[in-house]
Formats: sequence, C-alpha cells, structure tokens
Amino acid sequence: MKQRILIIGSGFAGMWAAVGAARLAHLQGRDDLEIAVLSPRPELRVRPRFYEANVARMTADLQPLFAALDIRFIAGSVEQLESREKALWYRNAQAEKVRITYDRLVLAGGSHLQHAGVKGMAEHAFDIDQMETAQRLEDHLAALAKQPDSTARNTVVVCGGGFTGIELATELPSRLKSLFGNETNTKVIVVERGSVIGGRYSEALREVIREASDELGVEWRLNTGVEVVDAAGVTLQDGSRIDAATVVWTAGVKASPLGDALAADRDPQGRFIVTPELRIPGHPDIYATGDMAHAKTDDVGNTALMTCQHAIQLGKFAGHNVAASLLGVDPLPYRQVNYVTCLDLGAWGAVYTEGWDQQVKLVRDEAKKLKIAITNELIYPPAADRDAAFAAADPLAKFV
Ligand SMILES: Cc1cc2nc3c(=O)[nH]c(=O)nc-3n(C[C@H](O)[C@H](O)[C@H](O)COP(=O)(O)OP(=O)(O)OC[C@H]3O[C@@H](n4cnc5c(N)ncnc54)[C@H](O)[C@@H]3O)c2cc1C
Repeated sequence: MKQRILIIGSGFAGMWAAVGAARLAHLQGRDDLEIAVLSPRPELRVRPRFYEANVARMTADLQPLFAALDIRFIAGSVEQLESREKALWYRNAQAEKVRITYDRLVLAGGSHLQHAGVKGMAEHAFDIDQMETAQRLEDHLAALAKQPDSTARNTVVVCGGGFTGIELATELPSRLKSLFGNETNTKVIVVERGSVIGGRYSEALREVIREASDELGVEWRLNTGVEVVDAAGVTLQDGSRIDAATVVWTAGVKASPLGDALAADRDPQGRFIVTPELRIPGHPDIYATGDMAHAKTDDVGNTALMTCQHAIQLGKFAGHNVAASLLGVDPLPYRQVNYVTCLDLGAWGAVYTEGWDQQVKLVRDEAKKLKIAITNELIYPPAADRDAAFAAADPLAKFV
C-alpha cells in the first residue's frame, strides 16, 4: 500500500509542497507515495491581487497541474485533527464528515485577517483578505456608483497603513474614478496609528510612499486609530469624524486555526515555530508551511514573513522534506536569504526594494512592469508539464 502525504490547503505553500514532494519521489524513482491535497476547491487563489478590481478572476485552476503530476485532489474543509491516530476529519463537498488517515501531514492553511474587536467593524467594515470579502467590497463599490453623488459616497477610509492598506489606498483613486466618473471629487483616507507614513519601512521606501500618496491625493491620518465604525463612517480615537460609505479594514493577520489542537509553540501571529526542516517540534509526522510557519530564513536573525514570496519557498522545502522523510533522503534546511519587496502604488507606479534594509532599486513605471510580471505571472502555478513543474519546484533553485 502507498504511504500518504496529506497536504491541507491549495494556496501558494500547499500547491508548491505537493509539487515539491512529487518532484523528489520522481527523482528517487519511487511511485509508492500518494500525494494528496485537501482544500475546498482545486484552485490557487491569488490573494496578493485582491486589492485590484475583477477579483473573481484572481484564481488559477490546479486540476491540469495535479493531473499531470499524479497529485490527488480531495475537495473539503478540515475540521478536526486526530494527530495521535495520524488521522483527521474533514467536511466534503456534500457536507458529509469524512475521516482520512495519513503517514505525513503538511499544514498549509494560510492566514486570515484578525478582527481587531473595534466596535461596529464586523457589521460595517469591509476587507480584502479573502476572495469572498474582496468581492463583497467590489459589489458594494459598484452599487455606490448608482447612488447620488455625496461626500460620504465618494469617500473610502482604509484602516491600517501596512502593505495591504497602501496598495489598496493607492489603487482606489483610479478605481473610484472609473466607477463614479472622472469629474467626481473622490477621497481616500488612510488611518494609521503610527506617527509616520510607512513607519515600518526604510526611510527611502517611506519617502516613495509619501510622494505617491501626495501625487494621488491619498490622505493620511496619523497617530490615531479607529474607535467606532458605523453605517455612515468612522469616529477616530482623537475624536474626529469621517463620513464615509466605505470603510476597509486591513490591519493584523493571524495564522489559520487548523492546528489549534496541537501542543506546540507558536509566535504572536499564531504560526508554529518550526524546525529548519519545517517540522512541528513534538509532532514528527507533521509539517507547517507558508503563513502557518514561523521559520528562520538565514543565520543572521531574519524570519519568514507572511508573504507569498516566503510561502512559495516554504512550500517547496516542506514538500521536499516531507517526501524525504518517507523516502530515506536527507532533508534540506529551509533557507531564503534573498528578500525583495514590490509595492504597487496605483496610477503613480510601484516601488521595488532589495534586501531586508529595503534599498529602493526601481520606482514608477519600471517597478510597475516588474510588479505586473510578479503578480500576473511569476506567482501563478507552473505549466501542467512535468519537467517544467519539477524544475520550478527545486527548493535550491533561485526564485527571486
Ligand atoms: C490583500 C493582500 C495582499 C497581499 N499582497 C502581497 C504581496 O504583495 N506580496 C506577497 O508576497 N504577499 C502578499 N500577500 C500575502 C500572501 O497572499 C500570503 O502570504 C500567501 O497567500 C500565503 O500563502 P499560503 O499558501 O500560506 O496561504 P493561502 O494562500 O491563504 O492558502 C491557504 C489555503 O488553505 C486552504 N484552507 C484554509 N483552511 C482550510 C481548511 N480548514 N481545510 C482545508 N483547506 C483549508 C485555503 O482554501 C487555501 O487553499 C497579500 C495578502 C493579501 C490578503
């Protein structure tokens, strides 16, 4: 009987873990492993593009790839782990509860926006964390276009000035103009607790974000947070009021609760603190990867971020190592020394940085071309061709 590697999640990490495991089995000339991916749908949802319009198109069908590599797909949603029995329960597409066993398990369930407990947020705020919620925002904006012109209709408040908040806020002026008309006086306001724009980033990157915000007319309210969200806008902690028909929450992400029942150390974002080979300590048959893994990227103190850049590499290493553990091959310690960022800044362009100190290398159109190449091509699944997919899944090949 084949030994089963069960991978939960078909996001960046889960998809690459499956291809990585299939690659190693192929290189070892072994066909006695079953590699199975369990996820609600056989698709990759391209979360880094959820700030754009037409979010329904931001998926890639994984069925041709999985068929080409003999990866089994199981449609369902995991509800409960029974790690002592090497089994878990999931709800299948017919809403039935099903039990499945495994020899090795890979947790690649991703992350979710953490609701900050702000009054009125659950009822009145939007977010772009998942496809369904980003679609809800898109439908709402389309419906507003049919409403009479007013300051509140034309105003969007973006709560949180991190990467997601900045990409959404700088994209919105052109999205709103295309919906409401070029002559409409639209307003995008970022509410940020920090005292400077882009305070978490290098001075050079901050300067670019400031310049793009000014040119696009994106306003920042610094040193304050959102106190209450209601149907007509927000009240800030400094007592000021913004009338807005649209409030979008972008701050704070938490790892999937998939492995909550496992006794293991986690970081403040709920990620498992994994070994260099991405195993969960105390659970030798279980690996965590992507947004569920807190892993060291190098020997100088850097840690993987909850980004698709890291999830892709973490997935390749997890796939390699989980297969290696069944095939009697040495594992590869996860390494991802190179770190870049490419931040979309809407109609202004984009900014590309290199290194953990975020040195600005490209801005405006040049960076925008790179951003489009990354988000529209590079992060998509490989072609459904065995040789090409296996070459791309090599954890030691340079990714960016
Ligand atoms: C708006 C936005 C913008 C972003 N921009 C960038 C960017 O510019 N650059 C960048 O590098 N990163 C960006 N990110 C972060 C990036 O999208 C994530 O880090 C990445 O998606 C993590 O990959 P993952 O495979 O770990 O998780 P995900 O991509 O979230 O995939 C998780 C998978 O697990 C499945 N799953 C979840 N729960 C269960 C369950 N119970 N049972 C079965 N399956 C389950 C899901 O259906 C999904 O298939 C952005 C994220 C967002 C939301």
